[in-house]
Order: sequence, then C-alpha cells, then structure tokens
Amino acid sequence: MRVDYLIVGAGFAGCTLAERLATQLGKTVLVVERRDHIGGNAYDYYNEDGILVQKYGPHIFHTDSEAVWKYLSRFTRWNGYVHRVLAVVRGKEVYLPINLDTMERLYDRSFTPEELERFFERHRVRVDEIRNSRDVVVSQVGEELYELFFKNYTKKQWGLYPEELAPEVTKRLPVRFNRDTRYFTDRFQGIPSDGFTRMFERMLDNSNINPVLLNTDYRDIVDSVRFDKLVYTGPIDYYFDYKYGRLPYRSLDFKFVTLDKERHQNAGVVNYPNEHDYTRVTEFKHFYMQKHPKTTICYEYPTAEGDPYYPIPKPEFEEIYLKYKREADKLGSVYFIGRLAQYKYLNMDQVVAGALELFEELS
Ligand code: FAD
Ligand code: UDP
Repeated sequence: MRVDYLIVGAGFAGCTLAERLATQLGKTVLVVERRDHIGGNAYDYYNEDGILVQKYGPHIFHTDSEAVWKYLSRFTRWNGYVHRVLAVVRGKEVYLPINLDTMERLYDRSFTPEELERFFERHRVRVDEIRNSRDVVVSQVGEELYELFFKNYTKKQWGLYPEELAPEVTKRLPVRFNRDTRYFTDRFQGIPSDGFTRMFERMLDNSNINPVLLNTDYRDIVDSVRFDKLVYTGPIDYYFDYKYGRLPYRSLDFKFVTLDKERHQNAGVVNYPNEHDYTRVTEFKHFYMQKHPKTTICYEYPTAEGDPYYPIPKPEFEEIYLKYKREADKLGSVYFIGRLAQYKYLNMDQVVAGALELFEELS
C-alpha cells in the first residue's frame, strides 16, 4: 500500500490531522491504531445495558478557542452539558473549584466576597516563588484547605505529594470569590450530542482516508506501507526504543458498576480526596442526559502500571523528554503531536489546537 501520510493513533491528534490532510489537501492517509477502537482516550460506547459510557474515565470538552470549537462543530452538535464536580470532605458534599458556596457549606457560615478574601489573606502561606503544586495551593488558600482537598487526592492520583509535582498540576483548579460552581469557565463546553466516538467517525469519513487499521501497532506494518510522512501520536519514548530510559506515565484502573436505579450521585463526578483507594466516581448519565432506568458509574483507581494516561509533570522527567524531543526534531518527515508524543498534560482542546497548527505547517 502507498499513502501520503501514515498516522499512528486515532485519538484527537490523529483524527484531526487525518481529517485536515484528507479534506483540505486531498492527501491519502492511513491511520493505524493499537486499540480495537478509534477515539483514543475519549472513546465512548453503549455498554451491555445500553448506557453510553466513556471507557477511559470522565471526558468533558471545554475550550476558550473559538477556532477549535468551530472546527469540531463541523462534526458534531453539543448537548449543552455544564460540568460540576463535588468533593466529599468532612462528610459534606461541596463544589470544586473552591468558591464562596464551597466555603459556606464547609464552614457553616456565610461569606461576602470581601470576607472570603480576608479569610484567605489570613490563612495563605507567603511563598517567594511558586516552585511546585503545593506552593500553588497554600499560597492561595492556606494549609487547612490544602490538606482537606489536595494533599491526599494528589498522593492517590500521582503516587506523589503536591510538593513533588510541577505547579501546572494544581494550577488547573482556580480559587473563586464568587458563587460560580462550574468546574470549567471556558466559553465553550459540552459533550458531543451523539457521543465522542460518533464525532470521530464523521471526521474519518472521507474517501482519502483508508479504513483505520485497528488492533495494530504501527511497528507491525511500518515496513510494508509506503508513505511520505509519518504523524506519530503514541508515547515518544516507545518510538525511540526507550534509548534514554522510560518516561513514566500514571495509569488508572477503571471499575464500572451498573446499578438498578435511575440516579446514583448529585453530580457527574464526585471526588473523594481523603477516603477510599479510588479518587473519584463518575456517573455518565449526567454527561449524556440519557434517560434509562439503570445507571452506570465508574471508579478510578490510580496505578503506576498499565496504559499510559498521564505524563507526570516533574522536572527530571521533562529533562528525559527533551532528550527525545531533540532526536525527534532531527527527523525530517516524522511529526510528534498529542499528549503522549509531547509528554504534556494536555486537554483535548489543546491537542486539537496543536494538531491544527501542525496542519498549517504541513500545508
Ligand atoms: P490519545 O487519546 O491517547 O490517543 C493516542 C492513540 O494512539 C491511542 O488510541 C493509542 O492506542 C494509540 N497508539 C499509541 N501508540 C501506538 C502504536 N505504537 N501503534 C498504534 N497506535 C498507537 N481532556 C479534556 O479536555 N477534558 C477532560 O475532561 C479530560 N478528562 C480526562 C480524563 C482522563 C481519565 C484522562 C486519562 C484524560 C483526560 N483528558 C481530558 C485528556 C484527554 O484524554 C487527552 O487530551 C486526549 O485524549 C489526547 O488525545 P491524543 O490524540 O493526544 O492521545
Ligand atoms: N486535585 C486535588 N483534589 C481534587 C481535585 C484535583 O488534589 O479534588 C488536584 C490533583 O493533583 C489533580 C489535579 O488537581 O491531579 C488536577 O485535577 P483535574 O480534575 O484537572 O484532573 P484530571 O481530570 O486531569 O484527572
């Protein structure tokens, strides 16, 4: 077989590039995917009870980029879901990120925004320079809230305490002085009306794109396909045969349970910072607004072994990554893009933005 582009991985990065190259430039494309489905970590499907679930944990699309939103909106409508997350602390359910409502429920008193600012001013720890994920939190809200919400959750999620992780991890959660209980404040957010997988199917529905080769590692076919350029969205260390050592990725075990009731919990995601071995519980019917007499929930148990889900933001791993990146930059017609290939804790919209940028370069 001969194609213009061989694309490794059928997630957001791979599908965006396949679609753009095929539609806009008329290039022929072959996508090869190790798993038995397209969509990467955003893959969703109807389980045996007919409930739409996400195989790799809660995925909510959100972006401030109008360009990214408009691009994906060619392939899907959105269901208007607004994500809210509850955390169970001291036996109470409170909203995250920390906001006025969270503080009132937690401390059983009312706060004005000014009172809350004064409260944090009294409790926050003065830090000269934000060096890690602990500094980010204690410098804003102080030790007590850090311990309640962040310390143990992070240890469970990453196997590391926040002081061992780069600031970008806990910087994902702001602190709010208003009553905005949404998890994300991006201008555009939601879940594809017919699910993520259907959106990916539409992206790949193009006569220049060959049927995706599923259940196939690219190495098994790379010598039997002729191509001009390679787009690689898998782990960068694997591409280079781990020559500079393995990059660690945090993994998760997902445990799905279907319950004989319509509704299980009060939000799409409920976090358990201080109890249980799991970090959070997702109930998918909140996301998809599906009507069904049963409901499926998913527990997330973080692990060191397993599929690579999270690059670990830590300076010493960034150094290893940069060694690989220098090798990658020397290769003429191989392009590394996406969360695994760039070893970066990227959200879906950032991956799409990166893929659209790479497409411009290739045009
Ligand atoms: P992936 O989706 O990982 O796709 C890469 C694909 O390449 C995979 O399907 C893989 O099987 C394939 N592959 C790898 N190596 C090979 C090989 N050698 N040969 C063939 N195929 C190969 N982002 C958000 O914006 N919002 C969220 O709510 C959100 N929640 C998340 C929750 C969890 C639990 C996780 C793990 C991530 C979450 N993300 C979220 C991040 C989101 O999953 C990623 O940004 C996005 O999936 C990255 O797309 P990608 O194409 O770079 O990688
Ligand atoms: N975090 C935490 N407690 C929480 C929620 C988040 O300590 O209840 C920290 C934790 O380190 C987590 C990070 O903030 O990994 C980012 O949270 P986010 O919800 O963005 O994680 P993701 O959905 O990417 O797993």
